[in-house]
Amino acid sequence: MNRKNDKSQYNKAIRDIERKKTKKIKIGSIAVGGNAPIVVQSMLKTNPENFQETLTQARDLKNAGCELIRIALPHEDTCQILPFLRREIDVPIIGDIHFNHKIALKAMETGIDAIRINPGTINNVRKVREIAKNAKETKTPIRIGINIGSIEKRILKTKGKPDAGSMVESALYSIKLFEDEGWTQLKVSLKASDIFQTIKAYKIFAGVSDYPLHIGITEAGPVFSGAIKSAVGIGILLYEGIGDTIRVSLTGNPVYEVIAAYHILRDLGLRKRGINIISCPTCGRCSTNLKEIVEEFEKDVANIDKHLNVAIMGCEVNGPGEAREADIGIAFGANKAILFSKGDIIRTGIPKEMAKDLLKEEIFNRIS
Ligand code: SF4
Repeated sequence: MNRKNDKSQYNKAIRDIERKKTKKIKIGSIAVGGNAPIVVQSMLKTNPENFQETLTQARDLKNAGCELIRIALPHEDTCQILPFLRREIDVPIIGDIHFNHKIALKAMETGIDAIRINPGTINNVRKVREIAKNAKETKTPIRIGINIGSIEKRILKTKGKPDAGSMVESALYSIKLFEDEGWTQLKVSLKASDIFQTIKAYKIFAGVSDYPLHIGITEAGPVFSGAIKSAVGIGILLYEGIGDTIRVSLTGNPVYEVIAAYHILRDLGLRKRGINIISCPTCGRCSTNLKEIVEEFEKDVANIDKHLNVAIMGCEVNGPGEAREADIGIAFGANKAILFSKGDIIRTGIPKEMAKDLLKEEIFNRIS
């Protein structure tokens, strides 16, 4: 396939993504669902009793572009951090509650932006109703977060096994409990570590309900393999038009979760944020230390949130073509490099050691 066809196929793929229209809710200042952009979420991994360490990680997440931050609240006392976080950081905070519904009530008292409950670990209809009543009174949006590993015993008894169907059943049942109390500021997640179960559950749910969906592959694994697994699972759902908020769950620094989430959204043309680096894998024709240049460049531009496509290419085979197509591009040759901007050559004969700095200069000129 030639380049032109390649591009038109890609553009067609983007046009093919038609987001399923869901109800719009608001979590703090962030709109979720409806026609709002898909929101990037992550979760704090620090001990919530350590205020300073938690705030530092929350700030790192914010700087990486995280738009909703979830925090585990394992017992009532951990709610003490919530007023502190609200004062210090302006990203909406979602409290993650399991087992003890009183923690949810306590968190709502502090004016938290949203609560995530897992009906399977609360496992008691009366307690879920109590949360619903309180959510309505305090106007707190709720995520009903179903996880295949902790489906309510009552549902497992009738459905027999934990699968996509029982996850959906659990979600619909919990939604009904909230609706009965007159509270509909809800979003739903249906997570499994198995991609196929996850996709199936979300597709079934999206066919019968228009509540907004938080999507992700739970317990996806370490940073590298987990990001790939998440990209496959989340990518398929997004391509189907499903998903209003996303989280890439990784065993590692949560900043990587945010970076990976934006890569997925950017590669599907759903959000444009940050510098998209197009670089060749190098081969025996490359006479430049491209790996080092690209790695350093990636670090240098990591905090830029404006979107640009930047090509860094190893030789004249595909270099000039890719560099010309990108917003800004550099193509190395045997001894020198050529710099492109908006498809035009703006400088030739660049000594290799100057190439990265000139590229960065051009980017800063463009975004400032
Ligand atoms: S652009 Fe050149 S150096 Fe890079 S992979 Fe292709 S042929 Fe090799």
